[in-house]
Formats: sequence, C-alpha cells, structure tokens
Amino acid sequence: MAVYQSEKEFLRSLKRFNALSSQQYEWHTGISEKEHDCMFGHAIPSEQLYFKKPLDMEGERKVRVCRDCMEKLVFVTIDSDRHSKNLSEHLYRERHPAQKKILKSMPR
Ligand SMILES: [Zn+2]
Repeated sequence: MAVYQSEKEFLRSLKRFNALSSQQYEWHTGISEKEHDCMFGHAIPSEQLYFKKPLDMEGERKVRVCRDCMEKLVFVTIDSDRHSKNLSEHLYRERHPAQKKILKSMPR
C-alpha cells in the first residue's frame, strides 16, 4: 500500500472518490489480458489490477490508471485535507443514503 493503511481503507475512500463523478462515469477495477498504459506514464502489466473510467457514454474511450497512482490520486483529491474528506463523504451519503437509519428515525 502506497498511502493507505489497508485495502479496506483504500476501497472506502475510492467509494467517496467515485461520488465526485456522475454514476455512469465512475471508476471501476479491471484486470486485462493485454498490457495497458497508466495515464501517469507507467505500464500496467497484464493480469494486474488497475482502474478505469469511461470518458464517453459508449465506454469506447477510457482512462486507465495503475494501482499505485490510483491510491495517490484518491488520497490527494479527497483525503489530504479535512474539507475534501467531509465533502466527499457528504456526496457519497447523498448518493447512497443510509436507509436503515433513516427508517428507524421516522415516526411510526
Ligand atoms: Zn501509474
């Protein structure tokens, strides 16, 4: 792990990071038989986990980022200061409301 303490922590942040994009343009994980290029200039070897984001509705154009770069990108964008952390949390909650809690607090 480059910047996050654990895989779990990174994936949690990735969900908040994705809340910055509209849903059809979220980042997804990928594993390919082919080699790809990381947007930040690294080679992504075949059979290795990487991240991709569609750039058009058809998904024909994509940006790909290697695992290490993705961690850094997520970290500097949403976890490097309190404001961006709170803002991304807010956006994530807006998109994925904690429904059980809401239902419990509703009057019967
Ligand atoms: Zn990279």
